[in-house]
Amino acid sequence: MPTKSNITLVGSGLAGPLLAISLKARGFDTEIFERRPDMRKVAVSAGRSINLALSTRGIHALREAGIWPDIEKIIIPMKGRMMHSVAGELTFQRYGKDDSEVINSVSRAALNIVLMNAAEERGVKIHFQQRCTGFDLRTRAVELRDEESGKLSSVESEIVIGTDGATSAIRTELLKTPRFNFSQQYLDYGYKELTIPAAENGEHAMETHALHIWPRGSFMLIALPNIDGTFGCILFLPFEGDNSFARLGSESDVQTFFATHLPDVLLLMPSLAENFFANPTGSMVTIKCSPWHHDGKALLLGDAAHAIVPFFGQGLNCSFEDCSCLLELLDRHGRQWSRIFEEFEEARKVNTDAIADLAVENFVEMRDRVADPRFLFKKKAELALEAKFPARFVPKYSMVTFHRVPYSVAARRGRIQDRILAELCDPIDRIEDLNWSQAEKLIHRELTPLEEN
Ligand SMILES: Cc1cc2nc3c(=O)[nH]c(=O)nc-3n(C[C@H](O)[C@H](O)[C@H](O)COP(=O)(O)OP(=O)(O)OC[C@H]3O[C@@H](n4cnc5c(N)ncnc54)[C@H](O)[C@@H]3O)c2cc1C
Repeated sequence: MPTKSNITLVGSGLAGPLLAISLKARGFDTEIFERRPDMRKVAVSAGRSINLALSTRGIHALREAGIWPDIEKIIIPMKGRMMHSVAGELTFQRYGKDDSEVINSVSRAALNIVLMNAAEERGVKIHFQQRCTGFDLRTRAVELRDEESGKLSSVESEIVIGTDGATSAIRTELLKTPRFNFSQQYLDYGYKELTIPAAENGEHAMETHALHIWPRGSFMLIALPNIDGTFGCILFLPFEGDNSFARLGSESDVQTFFATHLPDVLLLMPSLAENFFANPTGSMVTIKCSPWHHDGKALLLGDAAHAIVPFFGQGLNCSFEDCSCLLELLDRHGRQWSRIFEEFEEARKVNTDAIADLAVENFVEMRDRVADPRFLFKKKAELALEAKFPARFVPKYSMVTFHRVPYSVAARRGRIQDRILAELCDPIDRIEDLNWSQAEKLIHRELTPLEEN
């Protein structure tokens, strides 16, 4: 067993630098190779300025790495969803039981920069514009191409971890090995990033501490606050058909579409058309694969192992939770890489599959059901049941977002709770009419006390 290991990470997105920080803290020589230029020196490309919702699982991993205080400075807590109707009416729906349960808006670029700064301060070397073009599974050599000069090189290390996201080059090599399972499922929807500038006084043009949603049945717009007073918005729209990207080919198409469906937003986006055509239309995919590792030498982590669609706001949180899990196994088993990688996949795969499915389900909820009064009533009932039976009845959204119970447990308990809710809520229209003794009977019969991770 070598006394010193060197670890190569491919991809300096969100999971790569976070993992590197903690590997370095454990004495591993860690280097990262990233295909993009250093975003601290060049402007972030159009369409990469998106905001992400950071919640409990992600925060836990950041705390473990000792860098939560740095991240805390760049987040904006969002207490709930602010729904905007076509007529401009606003409805606020709290996410959690009180103000302690919030999700946090953070700019992807700002988060990436803080993570990379922290990694470098701790001695991690990040090589930019180094695209991984292949990985030799036998020699463990990562093949690289310098994106500027075209120069080819390779690096060998004891362990290679693919933190290179949904289009992972390391996963592409694993795909060539026998009995590697792989599936990818694209949504028929694409997304476009847009911006609402700050108001004239430099403040937010809408409520700051909310995630704004314009649910329109077959499509939706969301807006998350930035610390500079702007809102980062994402328009989710089908690629084809009525009300689709295919129908928005000219500036006047875009103006008319917003004037019809999103009139209040049109007033807040003076550069809408310019923004719309400058930014690319992104696609969304669920990727499942296995095994995530090869011969105790290579491992996939984060989106490289399990890309999910963004509608539960968990891709990043889940990738950070991967880091917590891997590090816990490393602390338990030392450098027994094969064992660590096997146990890592065993612990995580069932849960990453569960959140992948929950994220697809949540898309319908966000774009359509959040505008439905029955849905809002059930959400209120859920919070009332949680207040009365906090140990046993925790809403599915809360289990995923504010707790660290395994995602698969949240999914299973969520299905039971949906049945209980239907039984209690279908016959009534007011919380006051809720049959509390039936609720107690059902909850005690069907749900054990919730245990954290
Ligand atoms: C529209 C949208 C909204 C989202 N919203 C949320 C949210 O609100 N909350 C949430 O938790 N998650 C959200 N996500 C998901 C989140 O962005 C991802 O889960 C997260 O970025 C995964 O981190 P990662 O490090 O695994 O991958 P990435 O962050 O994608 O990083 C991968 C890195 O690898 C680099 N790379 C790729 N290929 C190579 C190569 N061949 N050689 C070298 N480097 C390479 C890339 O340039 C990149 O820097 C959202 C995703 C999308 C698309």
